[in-house]
Amino acid sequence: MKIFCVGRNYAEHAKELGNEVSDEPIIFIKPKSALLQSHTPFYYPEFTNEINYECELVLRISKNGKYIQEKYAANYYNGISVGIDFTARDIQNRLKEKSLPWEKAKAFDNSAAVGKFIDITPQFNKKDINFSFKLNKDVVQKANSAEMIFNFDSLIANISTYFSVNIGDLSLTGTPQGVGECVVGDELEAFIENQSLLKLLIK
Ligand code: ZN
Repeated sequence: MKIFCVGRNYAEHAKELGNEVSDEPIIFIKPKSALLQSHTPFYYPEFTNEINYECELVLRISKNGKYIQEKYAANYYNGISVGIDFTARDIQNRLKEKSLPWEKAKAFDNSAAVGKFIDITPQFNKKDINFSFKLNKDVVQKANSAEMIFNFDSLIANISTYFSVNIGDLSLTGTPQGVGECVVGDELEAFIENQSLLKLLIK
């Protein structure tokens, strides 16, 4: 099982970190050991002094595939949730400066928190999903899937050009603006529409 993640998929977020928008999806992978389930605490790692939250919509892959065409991509995922792409921003900045791979900043243990899934039914409008993220009860991130630069289907098509997608894989589809730091004691909660799907504490 692997977790595909997408960088800079919302223009306003790319801007807030001083990054340019890419003309093709920026993909990186987190291993299975990165998965953190809802209601499990996130233990602040000792190797960083700057953990950022990035709240993102998450897709659940339901079919094995490779070289999936965009027009068929919707057949390859059947669930949606919200997740947090925990990022050691201090380490990421250091690695980026030296043009080094950023796994240490992004793919460490428990760095991908994933909430409860909602089944995607034919009635579900994937182009109009509101999601939001609360830090200690304040809404700090709020967006709609329509704001994504690359939509779900084009992401799956692009990912599967390079990597096989397998049943049980997940994809975090990029964070909107509003990312920020979290510290020990913080309470994090993520929603699709008004439904709370992910809740955890930083310990
Ligand atoms: Zn992210």
